[in-house]
Amino acid sequence: MFENSEKTTLESLGEFGLIEHLKKHVVLHHPETIMGIGDDGAVIQPENKQVIITTDMLTEGIHFDLRYVPLKHLGYKAVAVNLSDIYAMNGKPTHITVSIAVSSKYTLEAIEELYSGINLACSNYKVDLIGGDTTSSMSGLTISITAVGIANPDEIVYRNGAKKGDLICVTGNLGAAYAGLQLLEREKQIFLENTSIQPDLEGHDYILEKQLKPEPRADIIRQMKELGFKPTAMIDISDGLASEILHICKASVCGCRIDAEKIPIDQDTWNMAEELNMSAITMALYGGEEYELLMTIRQEDYEKARMIADLHVIGYITDTPGACYFIDSKNELHPITASGWDHFSK
Ligand code: ADP
Ligand code: MG
Repeated sequence: MFENSEKTTLESLGEFGLIEHLKKHVVLHHPETIMGIGDDGAVIQPENKQVIITTDMLTEGIHFDLRYVPLKHLGYKAVAVNLSDIYAMNGKPTHITVSIAVSSKYTLEAIEELYSGINLACSNYKVDLIGGDTTSSMSGLTISITAVGIANPDEIVYRNGAKKGDLICVTGNLGAAYAGLQLLEREKQIFLENTSIQPDLEGHDYILEKQLKPEPRADIIRQMKELGFKPTAMIDISDGLASEILHICKASVCGCRIDAEKIPIDQDTWNMAEELNMSAITMALYGGEEYELLMTIRQEDYEKARMIADLHVIGYITDTPGACYFIDSKNELHPITASGWDHFSK
């Protein structure tokens, strides 16, 4: 209907026109979805499950910069970070709502781009978009997504279950999303100083993808279920490994030892750290937006856990509350602080 127009103003469409338009592209996957977009409230019917609910809000200029983040990626990532929270509870995400505040500088085509990313994430993770809210803003774009997930009561994993002797594990590798952000920021600065210079992003596909299009670790949650074990505590890494392990230790009233050399770091992250004259270990410890899972597992589950190729043991839990340390390559102990950039930079 809007194919032949490149710039449709949102004003010409109106709020209801926009909602009708967005609704057309929504595909539902779950029989539990009784009512989606179109009434005063959505209706879902989870059977004999506990329901997990999580919300994240992203604001232009604070959480994202549209000078280098394509709208489609933004939509995808906004969904992905919410699903990551559901997986971090060991749940299965089933539904989302999406609320947006948009200023008049956005066209229908821009909003369609955003929703194409949202719909792609919904399709990849089999999640139903069942509602939201649409409003105008004085400037910029704000997106708030709420995700709903389900789990059997005995499956849910909280932050507070870690016990002395449990092994600390992370999925994937760390520091890459931070390295990707540094690269994008560097190239943005160069471009702002001289607009004739094109960004040099060559050879950094992996860290860029990790920053722009993170994937929540549904695969790890599935593998743990298949192998028949669950973590004692779990959290997803949105604010950095150091900050997240402190959350687990605080909630579980315990301490920890992390072996910095065991933290998995991708070669591309090492290369970028080198280029920026930074420590890759610091990036891995303190860099945010990784959306990997950090968990503690019982020692007796180790034989099962090691069957999961992308799950890595990096330390263990101790019974002294607040005594949280990492050991560096020289065997020196450092206390873990929520942001320890200064004392550990190269
Ligand atoms: P109400 O005035 O009752 O809040 P709205 O007119 O805001 O209803 O919304 C109508 C329907 O469209 C509701 O089902 C709502 O959940 C859905 N909706 C509104 N905005 C969005 C959006 N940005 N994305 C997805 N669904 C939306
Ligand atoms: Mg409304």
